[in-house]
This record gives sequence, C-alpha cells and structure tokens, in this order.
Amino acid sequence: MKSPNPLFASLPTTVFTRMSALAVRHGAINLGQGFPDRDGPDWIIEAAARALRQESNQYPPATGVPTLRQAIADHEARFYGLSVDPDQEVIVTSGATEALADCFLALLEPGDEAVVIEPFYDSYVPQIRAAGGVPRFVRLTPPDWSVSEAGLRTVLSDKTKLLVLNSPMNPSSKLFTDEELTLIARLAEEFDFYVVCDEVYEHLTFDGLVHKPLIAREGMRERCVRIASAGKIFSFTGWKVGYMIADAPLASVLMKAHQFVTFTTPPALQYAVAAALAAPDDYFQGLIDEQQALRDFLSTGLKSLGFAVAPAAGTYFITTDISAISDLDDEVFCEFITREAKVAAIPMSAFYSPEGAGDVPRQFVRFCFSKQKSVLDEALKRLDRGLAAQ
Ligand code: PMP
Ligand code: GLN
Repeated sequence: MKSPNPLFASLPTTVFTRMSALAVRHGAINLGQGFPDRDGPDWIIEAAARALRQESNQYPPATGVPTLRQAIADHEARFYGLSVDPDQEVIVTSGATEALADCFLALLEPGDEAVVIEPFYDSYVPQIRAAGGVPRFVRLTPPDWSVSEAGLRTVLSDKTKLLVLNSPMNPSSKLFTDEELTLIARLAEEFDFYVVCDEVYEHLTFDGLVHKPLIAREGMRERCVRIASAGKIFSFTGWKVGYMIADAPLASVLMKAHQFVTFTTPPALQYAVAAALAAPDDYFQGLIDEQQALRDFLSTGLKSLGFAVAPAAGTYFITTDISAISDLDDEVFCEFITREAKVAAIPMSAFYSPEGAGDVPRQFVRFCFSKQKSVLDEALKRLDRGLAAQ
C-alpha cells in the first residue's frame, strides 16, 4: 500500500495532547496544555444557548454571521482605533488554528520561505510545510527574548514570503516592543513580505502593558493579517471561534482558502461571541487582574522552589529554567514531575526546530498559571515534595 504523506505520518502527537494524557494517567494537576480551569462568564454561555434555540442552525455565511462581523469591527475600533469593513475585511474562522492554516495556504507557493521565531507555537511549522513553504528560524533567548535586526537579516531574502509574529508570544510570554515592531515593519517593506500576526493573547497583557497590533502601523495594513481567538479572550478555548482581519484584496484570497478548509463556524457560538465582544471595559480589565495575580502567585512559588523564572508580559504561561534544580532534560523532567510530583508541565524543546541555529535548548519548562489559586497552591506543594525525591 502507498504510504500516507510523510509530513504528517512522521509527526508526533502534539506535546499538549501527550502531556495532558500523561497528566490524566497519573492523576496530575495539569499545568501543561494552556487552558483556564474555569469557563468564561455565564452570560456568554446563556447567549450561546439562546442562539441555539432562536437562530438558524444551518450553514451561516462563509465569512461569518453579519452580527459577529460587525461586533468584530466595533472591537477593532474600540481597542485599536482600526477602521475595518465588516463585509470585506473580516473572516470568522474555526479558531486561530484554522486562520493560520488559511493564511499559509493562501499566501505560500511551493518553495516560498516563511520566517518563524523560536520558541514557536507548535502548529506553525507543519502548517507551513503542508502549504509547500520552507520555514526559516530565528531564535530568541531569555530573559528578554529580544529580536535583533542582524538575527532577522540572516534569514531574510527575496524568497521570504511571510513572517509569523506571535505577540503576546506563546510560549515565551514576550510582548514585542515598539522598537521591535518598527524593525519588523521596516524589514517587511524592504524585503516585501507579509506578516501573519497571531494575536490570540491580545487581551492577556500584564503590568499595564498594552498590545499594539502591527496592522495598525503605517504602511502595514496591506501586509498584515491579524488573527484573534475568542477562546482566549473569553476563556472558552473549546469553542474555537477565531477571526482574521486583512485589507479587502488580501482578505478575498484568504477567504478562498477558508471556504475549502472549514467554510463556516457553528452559528450559535458566533452569536455568543458577538455579544461577548461588546462586554464592558470591566470585563477585560477583570480578566487581566485575575490572570496577573495568578501569574504572580505561581512565579513566586516556583522561584521559592529554586526554578529560574523568566518575566511573563502576557499569555497564560511562565517559562522556567530548570538547570539550577535538576540535571534532567526538559522532557524527562516533565515526565518525572508528572509521574512523581503529580504536576504536569510542557517541555519547551517541543517549540524549537533542529534546523534552528545551534542545539535545541533542553532546560526550559513551561507552566500554565491560568488555574484557580487553590489548584496552583496544591501544585506548588506537590512540586516541593516531588522535587525533594529527585
Ligand atoms: N496561536 C497560539 C499562540 C496559541 O497559543 C493558540 C492556542 N490555542 C492558538 C494559536 C490556537 O488558537 P485556537 O484555539 O483559537 O485555534
Ligand atoms: N495553545 C495551547 C497551548 O499552548 C494548546 C492548544 C492545543 O492543545 N492545541 O498550550
């Protein structure tokens, strides 16, 4: 029998699925896969339930229900001063993952190069390769994870078709600075590439920092696709309602990819997200305050256990360096703490490519802090006991 596509056949199951399964097997607290352990607001669930009964459950328009597209346009104006045409510049997708696939399929031709910043979110590289693209890696290092012009120039050329910019960034929890955004914008013009802006953690920025979309910068409107996910904004990661914003000519091509990837997204969830996006400012600030307090609680606890903890400007995650407390590599360490301490985390080597510059780092471990404080407290106690047994 002929073999299936080796690109997928040779891939492991995602690190999130593997670690979540291991957590279940060992009865561990799961600080691995990034999801809050409590659902978002009840009133949003009610809106979804109402929509299931009152709205059509047949195919909605491929770009999304008009009510949601209008709510998205209002959200973009409210938070970023962006003026977006809801009929031509918004495409609702089944999560950001689908939006990313649509972008790579619509933008890349075989052999085109796509710049990926390490450590990267795990779906980018296989999605780029599946679209025929060739990933080129730029590696960032803690604690500031800053991106340099020299670093970018080593991989940029006339073959560069796009760069993936994930800010706030998973797993490093970095928020790209104004200077870095200006640099990327300048290089995008010089080398004539698109920027796929994965901004799913846009509303999870801490310490008064504010997310600034690249698409809102001068000259960037035609080159950027802004990707968002309601799953992260409203703590419903299982809903998989995302969207893309792009200038109309580009959006019309992204739409062609979207129409043959999923075509549509469940309408009731779209109506609920439309209502949610109009939430008062208190909701958005409340989310930040809650998550920032959890970040601080887990960071302090992990530091007191001897982990080196990198600053986290946003997202659900903390990066730690385990070299001071363990000789194990990140994979073995994560298996060890899941099995022995009954706390799961993510080995960050999964977010690097062997094709990147230098060896893949093996000392970084990512913890998700988006859990109830009592759960984090118990996880810290378990780690304390488990590490002593190492
Ligand atoms: N990008 C990043 C950086 C993420 O962390 C995630 C996590 N889920 C996604 C994209 C995918 O988002 P969604 O669940 O909306 O597909
Ligand atoms: N984005 C989530 C994380 O980084 C995982 C999503 C998934 O499991 N695909 O943990």
